[in-house]
Amino acid sequence: MLIITLILLSLTAFQTHLDYKKIHHDAYVFDGHNDAVHRLLEGEDLGLQTTKGHIDIPRLKTGGVDASFFSVWVPPANKSKSYFNQANSQIEALLNFAKKYPASIRVALTASDLEKIRKEGKIALLISMEGAHPLGDSIQNLDYFYSKGVRSIMPTWNNSTSWATSAEDETNTSKKLKFKGLTELGKRFVQRMDELGIIIDVSHAGEKTFWDIIETSKNPIIASHSSVWNIFQHWRNLKDDQIKAIAKTGGLVAVNFAPYFLDKTFSKKVEAMRKRHDVKIKALKKSWKGSALSREEMIGRMLKEEYAKILPTISDLVDHLDYIVKLVGVDYVGLGSDFDGIGVTPKGLDDVSYYPEITKELLKRGYSENDIRKILGGNFLRVIEKVLK
Ligand SMILES: [Zn+2]
Repeated sequence: MLIITLILLSLTAFQTHLDYKKIHHDAYVFDGHNDAVHRLLEGEDLGLQTTKGHIDIPRLKTGGVDASFFSVWVPPANKSKSYFNQANSQIEALLNFAKKYPASIRVALTASDLEKIRKEGKIALLISMEGAHPLGDSIQNLDYFYSKGVRSIMPTWNNSTSWATSAEDETNTSKKLKFKGLTELGKRFVQRMDELGIIIDVSHAGEKTFWDIIETSKNPIIASHSSVWNIFQHWRNLKDDQIKAIAKTGGLVAVNFAPYFLDKTFSKKVEAMRKRHDVKIKALKKSWKGSALSREEMIGRMLKEEYAKILPTISDLVDHLDYIVKLVGVDYVGLGSDFDGIGVTPKGLDDVSYYPEITKELLKRGYSENDIRKILGGNFLRVIEKVLK
């Protein structure tokens, strides 16, 4: 009997192993958020297999990723040029990247573009804006960036805009805010995003801003890279009533892969570990010429073995997904890696090529193929079809 059970168990394991890659590659896989643009700006060629970062075309293909929101983000520290000009240069970099590799990747502006690109077997590049600072106070600028291809906008990053307060600012009580939530202009921006067909993304938004958006917008709302507050009480994560409100709009929460948001013990462990390697880290920082984002990634690589001992796992990531599914159902959840924007990734999910491992974990937990398809990208497609004109 024992032998029969063992044979059956190993057969099932073998079957799962065979199936997960097939299921994953058959499914439409949509990533809600990446920060790869800063690598393009630093001169990397993401059409080729690269040894740094998390994303490039060959690894996107290996990971079975069919579409991804490439985010335009102007770091608050970059004060040398205007936000508007910097956003323009980033969009240019993304468009040129797609232009250079037309056989592999194409810019998508509409739901039907996605369909066409999917049929061609190429990757769809969608442009999002992380922090609406490049818009300033001008609705015309919103129309302008729509014309340049932006199809999703986060009203804030960690820093607030003049018309919306961020999660960090609303949480950090030492900061005296002149207002909280959306101003009247903020509401006009949200209404105009609805009219144009721009997806409103509440990742990074403060709670007051969040509820003002829910009240103002008529469209499905997304959180492109946020995880669950009830698992880890981090100000970047979403509370149960927020997740329920997003589901009610027909939108979705795309779970962020960042170890800092997944595991409540991680920050403390990192702090202690980095203290032990302070000299090495300081030396790297001193000689570093690239951006802060790629510097953090380099530190992660330098201390790879140390990080491996403390990183959360794919199972920890899927716990967040599972939680949302149990709270509101399988139709309102997705994936938002934050790849190339996070210094370190969960164990076993080193870069975008490891995406099928998530499908493997979902299968292991008993998710049906149909539900897995929804989580991987089906839910995102539904939102895109509803919002993008
Ligand atoms: Zn972010």
